[in-house]
Amino acid sequence: MSRDVLSDFERGDESCIMRFEDGASFRVSYLVIRSNCQCAKCKPRQQNEQRKIELEEEIARLMLEKPRVSPVGRYGIQLEWPTGCSSGIHSFSHLREICEEHGQNLE
Ligand SMILES: [Zn+2]
Repeated sequence: MSRDVLSDFERGDESCIMRFEDGASFRVSYLVIRSNCQCAKCKPRQQNEQRKIELEEEIARLMLEKPRVSPVGRYGIQLEWPTGCSSGIHSFSHLREICEEHGQNLE
């Protein structure tokens, strides 16, 4: 069973629960996912601490909304937020890294 395959994405109001094929599950806030978006628009804004703080503050001011989730091939998901960035494709391995680094382990 792979640690880099997302098997479930459960949307809460401010955070989601991600479950992976290897049985691990994590709760991660949308703020964390959004501030680590890898799209062409958001990624350059994570290059240094100052820009990252600005990005986080900007996202924190947006309304908290559940994203629309659609699968991208067998390797990722696209999350569409009604406000702010909606083009980010999040690979499973990237999501797993976010989970390990910032998530709350639910095991
Ligand atoms: Zn983005």
